[in-house]
Amino acid sequence: MVEPTLLFVDPSRTFLPGLEEVLSRERHYRILAPSSTAEAVDQLEKTSPRAVILALPDDSEALDAATRIRTLRPALPIILLAPKKTKKSYTDVLRVRADELLTEPVHPADLLSALDRHSAKGTTSPIHVKVRELETLVQLAKNINRHLDIDQTLASIVDAAVRLTGAEEGSLMLVDPSSGELYMRASKNFDEEFVRTFRMKVEDSLAGEVIRGGAPILLSADSPKKIKSSFLVHSLIFVPLLLQEKTIGLLGVDNRATRTPLRESDLALMQALAEHAVIALENARLHETTQTQMSQLDTVIRQVEDGVIITDSEGGILVANQTVRSLFHLDDSPLVGRPMKEVFPNLELQYLFARREAENPHQRRAEITLDDERVFTAHLTPIEGVGFAIVLNDITHLKELDRLKSEFVATVSHDLRSPLTTILGYVDLIERAGPVSEQQKSFIRRIQNSVGSITTLISDLLDLGKIESGIDTQKEPVQLNGLARNALEGIRSGVENKRIHLAVSLDENIPPLNGNPVRLRQMIANLLDNAVKYTPEEGTIRFATRHEQDQALILVEDSGIGIPTSELPYVFNKFYRATNVQNTVGTGLGLSIVKSIAEIHGGRVWVDSKDVEGTKFTVVLPVPKE
Ligand code: ADP
Repeated sequence: MVEPTLLFVDPSRTFLPGLEEVLSRERHYRILAPSSTAEAVDQLEKTSPRAVILALPDDSEALDAATRIRTLRPALPIILLAPKKTKKSYTDVLRVRADELLTEPVHPADLLSALDRHSAKGTTSPIHVKVRELETLVQLAKNINRHLDIDQTLASIVDAAVRLTGAEEGSLMLVDPSSGELYMRASKNFDEEFVRTFRMKVEDSLAGEVIRGGAPILLSADSPKKIKSSFLVHSLIFVPLLLQEKTIGLLGVDNRATRTPLRESDLALMQALAEHAVIALENARLHETTQTQMSQLDTVIRQVEDGVIITDSEGGILVANQTVRSLFHLDDSPLVGRPMKEVFPNLELQYLFARREAENPHQRRAEITLDDERVFTAHLTPIEGVGFAIVLNDITHLKELDRLKSEFVATVSHDLRSPLTTILGYVDLIERAGPVSEQQKSFIRRIQNSVGSITTLISDLLDLGKIESGIDTQKEPVQLNGLARNALEGIRSGVENKRIHLAVSLDENIPPLNGNPVRLRQMIANLLDNAVKYTPEEGTIRFATRHEQDQALILVEDSGIGIPTSELPYVFNKFYRATNVQNTVGTGLGLSIVKSIAEIHGGRVWVDSKDVEGTKFTVVLPVPKE
């Protein structure tokens, strides 16, 4: 039998030395003697003593300690030992609801009988039993939240079941999902070997009834029932462990030797304990699943071939995978918490990180060239609640292909241009060389138009090649309005021929931009040419420039044929022509050139259009700060 425990709080050791021995000898108490009230409260949280003896010389400290003990354990008998009986001591006893006050000199027999009286009451009166049960349940709930050691939690649940029902032994059995058999996950007072080897088929056992039916079973000595289980018992309680309507196991207590009955009230208590067990098991399962998922994710991030850097919102590194480490020649030393700037001195990467708050995803992308000439695209994504992720993708081979393609296109275009110029020259000469019939004239016009189209295509291709390869990126201060007037001049005859109404509004406050004048003029001209080309006779074109904050805006709006909404995302692609322009000539390169020019100037272009209702192009260019 386990010895009952007494908590004897007497830090100054006034009473303890004289009484300790009597208490152990006469009543076999195991004495816990904390050296401070704080330690006493701590021990109270971990053990279940029969009673507390408080002997504190300082009245106020004693009161404080007694009040805390009362709050923690409302049913626990408290016996105060005071130096001498004063009126104040009596009031104190009442205030803290201590059960007894004994004063100096304390006679051992008085203390023993006080303890017998109160601790007996404490263990048997129904209200005290209930309070003790509740205390245990609260304590278990706290433990479930406090630590995740599932074995310890389940063991303490089974232990509580045995202790509170007064049963001989207890067990927590779970259904093994693979075999469908029951095994013992935790137990109290069972032989270790038996627990280890225990396996029970769910079919035709009493436990099986609980598992299948999901209802508890109470067998007491006065309602005998034949038990079909692997062990014979006099009384028993099995309660199911229910998780979302499914029985995952059971919690049981039983008496094999004694005929002490188990009651309905024990059943309710067992059900409460079973709920605790299910929560603990579910917590542990979720914890395990989360851990597994985290480690899988960790493995994926570490092993993917793309470089991955994850930082917190301040730029402190959280993860840098193996690829990133080898790209930047980093050793295996831990990087967590170190600033991004310090670990990755690459300037392009740092500029990218400086733009981390940019709304436009394009601005959170960068091309990064490493020392060994390899080229990567780096894409930065904000991750809510974490910080930022940068993914680096090797595009060296694509860059090389792109370079070869551009080189090929440039060579071919260049080689085609001279014979075409020759053809055009000779065609022009035919009419001068002698009389030609009307039919011949019409053939000549067709040749001139076709050769003209090819020439335009070729010069567009050559331009695009130059812009994309960055050959003519030389920039100087330019007046946007001057370029605009010049480009507007270029569409004058087209506007007059089609009797188009042209409305121009130029903002004279735009400061000079830093740009390439030839290319910027070409960009505006392409947009204006399109507006004229795709606007029917007597339509309207509005052209405007505007200065807004640190940006210059160019707006080209027309009342023309519009662009089908589903095709809007493609109009800036090379050679793309919308399905509604069959009757007009074009190469499909003009807008690609516009986009490239806007981008090499650090700007953007976008289009708004509603089918049939006209089109509006907007270009935004950065204005340099003073
Ligand atoms: P294209 O030589 O065909 O004009 P662009 O690259 O300049 O080539 O334009 C691509 C396509 O975008 C055009 O074919 C046309 O479908 C559409 N587009 C461009 N500008 C306009 C506009 N102002 N109105 C209607 N559609 C336009």
